[in-house]
Amino acid sequence: MKAIVLEQVDGKTQATIKQADLPAAQAGDVLVDVEWSSLNYKDALAITGKGKIIRQFPMVPGIDFAGTVKHSNDARYTTGQQVVLTGWGVGENHWGGLAEQAQVKSDWLVPLPVGLSARKAMIVGTAGLTAMLCVLALEEAGVKPESGEVVVTGASGGVGSTAVALLHALGYQVAAVTGRESTHEYLLKLGASRIVPRSEFAETRPLEKQIWAGAVDTVGGGVLAKVLAQTNYSGCVAACGLAGGFDLPTTVMPFILRNVRLQGVDSVSAPFERRTEAWERLANILPESFYETATTEISLENAPEVAADFLNNAIQGRTLVKIR
Ligand code: NDP
Repeated sequence: MKAIVLEQVDGKTQATIKQADLPAAQAGDVLVDVEWSSLNYKDALAITGKGKIIRQFPMVPGIDFAGTVKHSNDARYTTGQQVVLTGWGVGENHWGGLAEQAQVKSDWLVPLPVGLSARKAMIVGTAGLTAMLCVLALEEAGVKPESGEVVVTGASGGVGSTAVALLHALGYQVAAVTGRESTHEYLLKLGASRIVPRSEFAETRPLEKQIWAGAVDTVGGGVLAKVLAQTNYSGCVAACGLAGGFDLPTTVMPFILRNVRLQGVDSVSAPFERRTEAWERLANILPESFYETATTEISLENAPEVAADFLNNAIQGRTLVKIR
């Protein structure tokens, strides 16, 4: 099969497109003909070697894929069935989706929900699934469209774009935080009701004027600290990312004086029931316009070059990789 193969050469990660043989199948494995994959922030860190994502080489990257079951050792999956995979360390410590085929544990797969093609599933991808998990967290914390404005940080990225589109489709007023003027029009098209420049999040006091009923934060660091300080009494902040840093320079004030909830969100090890719930919601909520507006389609050959753009903050929306 054709794949991107990552190897270590003189201590540096090198990405090459070449023929590779999948490791031997284990009990319960499912072989999938991959049709679409995508690039996420973590893929960019892995492919460029800028993040310590891969510890064992050679490795095929790609933390998500969608395609058709070619062969299954598990009765729950049959040949010809359409499936999607995100997370579980695939593309990190198990050969991933940036290849014509993938062999994975059946427990890691999710059957494609009705209404979602393999292509659409990978426009959503890990980033979109994570955005949906953040929205579920806000709903469960009681943040409703009538509660007030919801803010999305890192809004032009994959998670951020999907969160803006989902929240807008559900009737929320969405404020989009971005560091780029070039993406304002794009964010308004996705459904943001206003844009807040990232520069306004540079400094924070322990408590500030209450603005947000809820938040989806993909950035972390000082931006998350400011969002917490501006969150309404009993509001909820769903934190899923670290595009701006993994630190959190905050105080306990928003929590003990304003009853603010900081809800962590992980997609990698989310249980099967949670994933299927999220995929079904995604299939029902996202409008056709999201897929048209948020997608940049590239080939497997272009993926290593485009991966570098993620780390230069030069990616808008979702990057879909056509495999076959
Ligand atoms: P993208 O690169 O597509 O988007 C990240 C966005 O963050 C950028 O578009 C930019 O938005 C903003 N940003 C970039 N650099 C900085 C910076 N230095 N300071 C502040 N903001 C910055 O990545 P994804 O959407 O794929 O992922 C976003 C984050 O979520 C990543 O940290 C990723 O690791 C994490 N993630 C977590 C998951 C989980 O399971 N918890 C799953 C998937 C992703 P703009 O230009 O609009 O400012």
